[in-house]
Amino acid sequence: MSRSNSSKTLHRLIALGPATRGVLGAELEISAPTVTRVLQPLLERGMIRPLERIGAEPLSGKPAYQVGIVESYTTFVGLKITDSSIYGAVVDMGGSVLAHDERALSDTTVPAVVDTVVDLVSALSADFTISGVGIGIGGRVNSGKVISSGFLGWTNVELENILERRLDVTVTVANDVQAFAQAESWWGFAGGQRSFVLISVGSGIGCCTVMDGNVFEGEHGSAGMIGHLRVGDGGPTCEMGHVGCARAYASSTCILRYLEKQYGISESYDNFVTRATAGFSPERAIGVAAVEAVAQLVSGAIGFLDPNTVVVSGDGISMVMAFESEFRKAISTYRHWAGEKVDVLLQKMEFSAWARGGAAVAMERWTQEAL
Ligand SMILES: [Zn+2]
Repeated sequence: MSRSNSSKTLHRLIALGPATRGVLGAELEISAPTVTRVLQPLLERGMIRPLERIGAEPLSGKPAYQVGIVESYTTFVGLKITDSSIYGAVVDMGGSVLAHDERALSDTTVPAVVDTVVDLVSALSADFTISGVGIGIGGRVNSGKVISSGFLGWTNVELENILERRLDVTVTVANDVQAFAQAESWWGFAGGQRSFVLISVGSGIGCCTVMDGNVFEGEHGSAGMIGHLRVGDGGPTCEMGHVGCARAYASSTCILRYLEKQYGISESYDNFVTRATAGFSPERAIGVAAVEAVAQLVSGAIGFLDPNTVVVSGDGISMVMAFESEFRKAISTYRHWAGEKVDVLLQKMEFSAWARGGAAVAMERWTQEAL
């Protein structure tokens, strides 16, 4: 979508922080008079404000000062839907979580999920001015439609349209990993970094590429669906019957099912990580094989994209951290000998990070449509 100069300016200030008029003009390739004309209504509406002056008073001309967003100007509700609950947060323009709440989900049919979303959004928005609702969902999403979501058992659900008819506000639905990457590029570990790859390890395996501050969704909204890539020759099988795919090796879903089926061990994921870390069999071998599988995905991302940084995160990050030395050794083994070394960060995550992702995609849409 092509953006107006006001939309580009606001988006720039949200994504990369305060800037002087000169910097904005250079980055957005607009003239100084245009920058002044674009900033004026944003200042008048209270969306942005002048910050402290930069440097000494010049001998002639206007002093240079930065402008930045007013974090409290408006808020967004971000939601993350899992198979057992919906988590929601109210997030301001600076990415701060102002309130949060959760609803259990005993039924994952579309009407039940929609009713629960409406209930949660109503409760969260009671005390705030909300400019949009954003939802991150595990699965393939394109233009607000959930094309497929395995864990909910949904295909072709027009979730955005259905919810907009129920809620009197703009709703944006996006893939959860893409939403998470968007939020992190603005407010989190990648803050200020314009290009990175995020690999998420949890009940599924996902990936998102952010280039020049923009999430790359792919032609069909499917970029980053790397879970079933084959990375080995053995190990457990996934739900599709694949031997050696990344999901089979490293998703919590497949690891727990394998432990039960193969060894008769029924345990929580946290327990699995604890026992693996302590060196118990068979958990340790399963954990090492899992992080080696993730390492192959990281090497693949580096080989294909040469990003500034690869960030590994998600609900299963504790397992990667437990076997960090094995993980890093595997990356260096598979890395191209001639390639530049790329930073690989392991990032712990709070569950609210998923909801912040929902808020980020709502805010992204708002900067395009509200100006
Ligand atoms: Zn598979």
